[in-house]
Amino acid sequence: MPALVAGIHDCLPRHKVVDGRAKPGHDEKEKPGPPWGRKAEWPPEPRGESPSCEEPSRSEKVRILVTNDDGIHAPGLKVLEEIARALTDDVYVVAPEMDQSGVSHSLSLNDPLRLRKIDDTHFAVKGTPTDCVIMGLRHILKGMKVDLVLSGVNRGQNVAEDVTYSGTIAAAMEGTILGVPSIAMSQAYNFATRENPDYACSLAHGPGIIRKLLAAGMEPGILLNVNFPARAPEEVTGVTVALQGQRNMDLLQVEPRHDGRGNPYFWLAFGRGRVEPAEGTDLHALADGKISITPLRLDLTDLPSVTRLAEVLGG
Ligand code: MN
Repeated sequence: MPALVAGIHDCLPRHKVVDGRAKPGHDEKEKPGPPWGRKAEWPPEPRGESPSCEEPSRSEKVRILVTNDDGIHAPGLKVLEEIARALTDDVYVVAPEMDQSGVSHSLSLNDPLRLRKIDDTHFAVKGTPTDCVIMGLRHILKGMKVDLVLSGVNRGQNVAEDVTYSGTIAAAMEGTILGVPSIAMSQAYNFATRENPDYACSLAHGPGIIRKLLAAGMEPGILLNVNFPARAPEEVTGVTVALQGQRNMDLLQVEPRHDGRGNPYFWLAFGRGRVEPAEGTDLHALADGKISITPLRLDLTDLPSVTRLAEVLGG
């Protein structure tokens, strides 16, 4: 058993069944949340008999579900599978048949989900990234322990407002909702690498980052958004926990065009414009050559507004 596997194994959760979601406002002392969500238990105490877990039994091995939004043929998916295999050899890939970038957290409710088995551990779904995670956890791996969902590596960064559009992040949201620690990973590109994004940075730093994040513990209801800068691995200037930034949305435009028959059609497009990103944000981190990690909450409730509105409305 490679040392890498033994290393991460001790950091991973020991929940037996992927089940249930974090109960809002639950009291941990009285009613514990999902086992993986209790930091006190994760990483768990090393066990007396085999503290190093050098040869974990099959049932104890870490299992990772890999998905993305760029589709089953995307180069970034192969990169993410490689990253996952640096951590464990128990990896399943369930990804969309087609590019689903920008579909956010959508579900297929009006169309059937077509499942194509490529081999025993690779599956394509004619659906969204969210569909893929559900198919993975509730059908393909039904009844099997899944320790981690990884989504990506996306072709292009997912920062600032991207977070709300991204299918990559939505897949990690779905994993979190279904009770599995989940991490979204995206690789920024620059003008030079636009046509052929270079995933070397993700590949070199991905496994180490995941190992550290798991060792730090994952909270229930929180997913992690990791972005790698458009730099060579050795040119990365650091790793930083960053806030979700904000773009200048005035740059979002609708480009009118005409097809060959003179009929109008439109493309959504971001205009060019240099905006200095605020310090401490994901945008700033990437511009600075850093790997950016942003914890995102599933609960979008804004507590200050709850208080303010309750005062105004008396409820
Ligand atoms: Mn994408």
